[in-house]
Amino acid sequence: MEIKLASIMTCPNCGYKKEESMPINACTYFYICENCSIKLSPKDGDCCVFCSYGSTQCPPVQASKNCC
Ligand SMILES: [Zn+2]
Repeated sequence: MEIKLASIMTCPNCGYKKEESMPINACTYFYICENCSIKLSPKDGDCCVFCSYGSTQCPPVQASKNCC
């Protein structure tokens, strides 16, 4: 299975989109929107900000591994 390492983050506050690269084996708990400077954290039940706000789930979830 091919694992994608890029995800388009969409800010829920201002709608700003930016492509970010994801670490292969770590989770990202915080993300600062560079447009409105809001600090995002994962939604309940999600392991990282990419799963909550990105176009692609994080690599460990794509590989069906336990995340974090
Ligand atoms: Zn924003």
